[in-house]
Amino acid sequence: MQGLMQFHPLMISSAIEFAALYHGDTEVVSRRVEGDIHRSNYATINRRAKQVAQALDALGLAQSARVGTLAWNGYRHFELYYGVSGSGRVLHTLNPRLHPEQLAWIVNHAEDEVLAFDMSFLPLVKAVASKLPTVKHFIALCDAAQLPADSGIPNLQSYEAWLAPNGGDYTWPVFDENLAAGLCYTSGTTGHPKGVLYSHRSSMLHALASAATDVIGICSRDTVLPVVPMFHVNAWGLPYLMPMVGAKVVFPGAALDGKSIYELFESEGVTMSAGVPTVWQMLLAYMDANQLKLSTMKRTVIGGSACPPAMLDAFRDRYGVTVNHAWGMTEMSPLGTFGTLKGTQLHASADAQRATLLKQGRAVFGVDMKIVDGEGHELPRDGVAAGDLMVRGSWIIEQYYRGEGGSILDADGYFSTGDVATLDADGFMQITDRSKDVIKSGGEWISSIDVENIAMAHPAVAMAACIGVRHPKWDERPMLVVVKKPNVEVSAQDILHFYEGKIAKWQIPDAVQFVDAIPLGATGKMQKTKLREMFKEFTLSA
Ligand code: ADP
Repeated sequence: MQGLMQFHPLMISSAIEFAALYHGDTEVVSRRVEGDIHRSNYATINRRAKQVAQALDALGLAQSARVGTLAWNGYRHFELYYGVSGSGRVLHTLNPRLHPEQLAWIVNHAEDEVLAFDMSFLPLVKAVASKLPTVKHFIALCDAAQLPADSGIPNLQSYEAWLAPNGGDYTWPVFDENLAAGLCYTSGTTGHPKGVLYSHRSSMLHALASAATDVIGICSRDTVLPVVPMFHVNAWGLPYLMPMVGAKVVFPGAALDGKSIYELFESEGVTMSAGVPTVWQMLLAYMDANQLKLSTMKRTVIGGSACPPAMLDAFRDRYGVTVNHAWGMTEMSPLGTFGTLKGTQLHASADAQRATLLKQGRAVFGVDMKIVDGEGHELPRDGVAAGDLMVRGSWIIEQYYRGEGGSILDADGYFSTGDVATLDADGFMQITDRSKDVIKSGGEWISSIDVENIAMAHPAVAMAACIGVRHPKWDERPMLVVVKKPNVEVSAQDILHFYEGKIAKWQIPDAVQFVDAIPLGATGKMQKTKLREMFKEFTLSA
């Protein structure tokens, strides 16, 4: 017997339509690349997103046609999120930090037909435009007056001129919820990047699950500043979740330095934010140097890379901000786990609570997780056994775009994350490493994250990465690469002494190398492949 309830397809457009109806005057504030602060609201965003849909119809774009965006977090990008997906096309967010060759490769692979870009990326688009045969329309996200006369880019229009002829009198269409809505390529450390194709259903289920109080848990009384870019994994789904709950939105645009973020936090009354550790490092450094306080911020979500313990402590002890650690990946829309304490843990000691919060969190409802050994056998959930982390769920990848990489699930439908992790009895997952970053010393695994976290707590260390280097006896031993804080003196010996008593002796790095900067990837993560390349000739003596 079947249930007798209505079926309504889950449509991305429903989130903005809902916000327009019930939170129409709730503000959407953006720092524009032009430098000024722009104020809009959900009712206006919905109307203009409908104008985008009409403009795409006018171009004759078919269902599922790909529309590329090269843009920072801002109201126009937000309108494209809804106008493109809501009208049945696919929003393909492009990472502007990629090398131009790689960017062109991705646009061509996706066969984007339209490319909408912020004016700050005009030189980049100029450089690649002739290599993008499928792109028939270039839209600059600006007013008609700002459009350069002789850009050399074919069919270039300003976004405002493109929208203007359309009145926004448009009803969002309803179609199969499994239709593709968004496309994002993984940065991929080897081979070509691979596309992850989200559906309306997967994006809406992800947003609904992340709305839970134990997960992102924002509400209509929050003001949210997504630092995490809309050009990578849909800014962790926040562009869908914020309108669903009617939260005020503050978009930071291109200015992600500590001062600019701090100013917006204070001037707009931001209560909640989300981003990768590197951004928070800049904010903390700015606030420390200028002895500033945060007056409205309550909570920040840190993910994308492990949150260093020193960062959690600084936010909590010096600024009264709760840090929630989250983990996920492009292939997971991205959320897999979220770090909030359970009721049974509220009476644990402060140290035990801190240790729990530093783990990557527990599974969000809707995500199945297991850890397995090299033969695929499931390992115990005892917080000790570490194995390959596998995941399954309705917002997790089944196949890469155009079938790249072939079949990627195990017999039970689990996807291998490439992370090495433990799971404890309370369900908390802790990443000990990415499978390719783990250091194998004499057959024993050393977690590069543990080694880095200790270094990050040293007062003279601004950034630290641990990589394996060749060793005649142990095959591989850990080496620490350090960027010092400005104007401080510290020796390799000082840093190595700092490890004593904090980690097993055999896990202490064999060497420390100082560098001016650690290469960061397109999403702000340390690029250990580059470091390994830099130090590939480095051999330790026995
Ligand atoms: P890429 O790093 O290739 O751009 P993603 O942005 O999808 O890909 O990142 C996913 C990876 O980032 C995860 O597999 C994991 O290794 C790492 N990661 C994400 N969040 C965390 C976290 N909280 N702690 C440690 N590692 C994390």
